[in-house]
Amino acid sequence: MNEFVPTPEQQRLIDEAQRAREEALRNPQPPRGRPLRDSQYAIGLTADYELQPGGGRPAPPPDPDTPPRPSLDVRLDRAAGALIGAACGDALGVPYEFQPRLAADQTPVMRGGGLGPYAPGEYSDDTQMQAVIARVAASGLELDGEPAQRAIAEGFIGWLAGGASDVGAQTRQVLSTARAGGGDPLAAVRAASRAVHEQTGRSAGNGSLMRTGVVGLAFLNGDDAYYRCRDAALAISGLTHFDPLAGDACVLWSEGVRQAVLHSTPGLWRFGGVRNAVAFLPIERRQQWSEWLDEAEAKEPYEFQPNGFVVPALQAAWSAIYHTRIPERPEDHFRLALEAAVRAGDDTDTVAAIAGVLLGAAWGRAAIPEEWQRVVHGWPGLDAEGLAELAARIIA
Ligand SMILES: [Mg+2]
Repeated sequence: MNEFVPTPEQQRLIDEAQRAREEALRNPQPPRGRPLRDSQYAIGLTADYELQPGGGRPAPPPDPDTPPRPSLDVRLDRAAGALIGAACGDALGVPYEFQPRLAADQTPVMRGGGLGPYAPGEYSDDTQMQAVIARVAASGLELDGEPAQRAIAEGFIGWLAGGASDVGAQTRQVLSTARAGGGDPLAAVRAASRAVHEQTGRSAGNGSLMRTGVVGLAFLNGDDAYYRCRDAALAISGLTHFDPLAGDACVLWSEGVRQAVLHSTPGLWRFGGVRNAVAFLPIERRQQWSEWLDEAEAKEPYEFQPNGFVVPALQAAWSAIYHTRIPERPEDHFRLALEAAVRAGDDTDTVAAIAGVLLGAAWGRAAIPEEWQRVVHGWPGLDAEGLAELAARIIA
């Protein structure tokens, strides 16, 4: 995670999204479908997020609970794969963060160093923050509810004080402001997130997307699971990243993870949830996100840098997944695509953590190289086995 300085084109998109949100807040539409909770209006992110038919390119979301639903063993393997996959991407990218990017024939190695500096196999802030969310989800609290979000806010503040080995500028500003303010941690974090956005006019860094995949694991059951996953992704993104574009990205990726775990479709089709989730976004931004995904499928990962802004970070990860051909042993796609994500350059650990959570959800823990699983570890004292146990408790 780093502080991004938007290009003029990026700034234009951010300004546009901001204007659309201000307009929505000035003229709130009566909610359609499932009513939104007051808290969601309070953080200003979801007033325009009701599902509407039509618009954009994606097909209507398939019902991931349509048989054949994968067995519990498969779901457990994929959920563990998601958390371990994110941690492996993070640890694999750590040595190369903000370094000259690797060439196509160079293979990244989990040799540590980077901004920590980190031990070989040690993951960074991306997975540390994801672990905070994972522990709350594993405790049984529902991530779309305020008690869970309060526990996450408290967990983030505690992490900044006691666990953070490196932290992005925006996240540091939000969490340290919230900690200084005291009081209810959820209210304090939300207020600080909004204040930072209003001061700087930009809060769409990649720092909420990098930790969001775990949200998808928490909503594998129930007819309204995709609504709830979306609501939770938005609320948890908004704790530090008030900008709606950061929230959009978290909706796409969390739903992508959720559907990857639930689908029985083979190979690359298992990644289709990201495209499907475009239909869950506010209608005025669906076309834009479809075009951003098209662009990612048309360009190489390294063409999306700098990638501190959430949009190129998502595009770099999507491009790495999309452009890595399914090899003879299909599960090797996990490793090859993750290496491609590191080769995107710039914020390598974050782009690879984003790619890793989705790749792991799609291919499962069994696809993750043993040599990576043996060494991957980090705050708060988790290794691959610890991450797998957390994942099992989340989906139990
Ligand atoms: Mg990091």
